[in-house]
Amino acid sequence: MDVYNLLRYNVGPPVMVVTTTVGVQYLAELGGGNSSSWSLLGDAHSWSVVGLTLLWALLSLWVPGKVFCGPQTSFGYTPVYKANGFQFFVVSLLTFLAVVLLYPTIPLDLFHNFKNILASCNVLAFVLCLYLLVRGKVAPEAAEVIEPKPLLYEFYRGMELHPRLLGVDVKQLTNCRFGLLAWELLVVAFFLAGWERNGFSMAHLVCAALQTIYLAKFYWWETGYFNTLDIILDRAGYYICWGCLVFVPSLYTFSSYYLVAHPPTVSTVGAMIIFALGLVAIMLNYRVDWEKEHFRAHDGKCDLWGRPATYIEAQYTSAAGPKQSKLLTSGFWGCARHLNYTFELMLALAWCLPGLGHGIWPFLYAIFLTILLVHRVFRDEEKCRDKYGAAWDKYCREVPYRMVPFVF
Ligand code: NDP
Repeated sequence: MDVYNLLRYNVGPPVMVVTTTVGVQYLAELGGGNSSSWSLLGDAHSWSVVGLTLLWALLSLWVPGKVFCGPQTSFGYTPVYKANGFQFFVVSLLTFLAVVLLYPTIPLDLFHNFKNILASCNVLAFVLCLYLLVRGKVAPEAAEVIEPKPLLYEFYRGMELHPRLLGVDVKQLTNCRFGLLAWELLVVAFFLAGWERNGFSMAHLVCAALQTIYLAKFYWWETGYFNTLDIILDRAGYYICWGCLVFVPSLYTFSSYYLVAHPPTVSTVGAMIIFALGLVAIMLNYRVDWEKEHFRAHDGKCDLWGRPATYIEAQYTSAAGPKQSKLLTSGFWGCARHLNYTFELMLALAWCLPGLGHGIWPFLYAIFLTILLVHRVFRDEEKCRDKYGAAWDKYCREVPYRMVPFVF
């Protein structure tokens, strides 16, 4: 085995599992500004919080309603999802606010017990990923042949693309219904906890409001998410399931969490400017994603920026045989190949900016996302080159920049 494979399959996975699991607990210690004790297994409060969130998430997928079929895999399987994301978001947020009105200590309790809550999330994610590993090896649901790899790598990467558990799609449960809901409720709770502890802060409100608008936008578009790399490329394992069950509630909320123990120093006027910047970035990010969806929904027969959309015809092979697709070369997709990521980074920066004056820690999410999205650009392009071959190369020649026109 060469050094690359040794690192990739045998060294990388255990190192990542240990450092990320310990890392989130360290972050909670650091951001909370106190060294209160916590247990590796969580406590009764943290399990109630995690258990209730999980049950609520499951209920949202069990209720009868519209379903959405995701793209068919290369081995002929069509995943089925529940299409009630936006209703779930609104009902969950309103219910949470009503419960907080009845029990006003909840936000500070969540803040003070965050380390135990993350410990419970860690345990939950480990148990789920172990189960997914065993099931994927012993009794996978879909007939897909995958090459065996070292066990730790399989645990880290996952085995099945679209496993189902308790009648629901595992990745819709962990990514959309647990991870992103926990993110939303925690940023609201941390804003309220900061208000209770330090008095009202417009900057902290802006931080929470931008994330709330962003997440509302996500849920509005949830079915579009089922066409993304997380769903069509990543298998249900530690990388994506732990990422959504633990890393999202931890790192993605970190700026809001940090501001509870480190009150913002940004003025109200400064906060309003940040809000405007964030709103513009959210709208631009939405617009880029929308242009592609609109273009695909009309099979290329639509106008963008006042002119008929231009595109490159692209062929690929699916389980059902050869297929035809189109690569958009006008609108934002004619300026750079991943402008949606660039605007995503701008909006992430915007909700970190209320932490100005507290050093680098409040910017951790923006730093992490820069690494994640730059890496994702290359992963996505590798996938597209494999899928479309010469048509993709032609698109890259016509639209030569990845994220920033004339720069990168
Ligand atoms: P994209 O929405 O950019 O989708 C990439 C796919 O779109 C490609 O694989 C290809 O798929 C298709 N495609 C690429 N170029 C073209 C083109 N010119 N014309 C038509 N189709 C094209 O990426 P993601 O799915 O990663 O991101 C979706 C959203 O989620 C973005 O807003 C992103 O910012 C956000 N995001 C947020 C993250 C976070 O942690 N905050 C992480 C990742 C994403 P096909 O096979 O269909 O042709």
